[in-house]
Amino acid sequence: MMKVLVSACLLGEACRYDGKSKSQELPRGMEYYPICPEVEGGLSIPRDPAEKVGDVVMTKKGMDVTEAFVRGAQAALELAQKEGIKYALLKENSPSCGVHCIYDGSFSGRLLPGAGVTTDLLRQAGVKVFNEKEGAELERESREADKKG
Ligand code: SF4
Repeated sequence: MMKVLVSACLLGEACRYDGKSKSQELPRGMEYYPICPEVEGGLSIPRDPAEKVGDVVMTKKGMDVTEAFVRGAQAALELAQKEGIKYALLKENSPSCGVHCIYDGSFSGRLLPGAGVTTDLLRQAGVKVFNEKEGAELERESREADKKG
C-alpha cells in the first residue's frame, strides 16, 4: 500500500484557522499519514488567517508567522523521511499546503499560481505533491508503483 502524507484537515481534523475541517473523500487503498503543519509549527486553533508572499507569511493582523510555518514544514518533512513517504495529498490554496495556488497576500480572496511553505519543502526533498482534486493522478502513481514492485 502506498504511503501518503495528507493534510489533516482533509481527513476530518478540525485544525483549520477557523476551527473547521475540510473533510472529503480521498482515494482508497492508501496508507495515510495526517499532519497539520501549522499546528505542528505551534499555531493555535482557531488562529488569525495568514497568507504567504514570497518567503514570508503574515497574518491578517500583520504578525510575521514565517518561523512557525517553517517549523511545521520541517515537521512534515521529518515525518515523510522517517516513514519513507514519497507522495503527499495536500489542501489547495493554503499558505502551508497549497499545491498550485495560494492567496496573494492581500486577504481579498485573490489567488495566484504558487505553493505553500510545506509543499515547497517537500518538493525540494523529492516528494510528489498532489492537491485534493488530484486523487486520480495519485491513484495512477500508486498503480505505477505497484507495477514496478
Ligand atoms: S495547514 Fe494544511 S493541514 Fe493544517 S489546516 Fe491548513 S491546509 Fe489543513
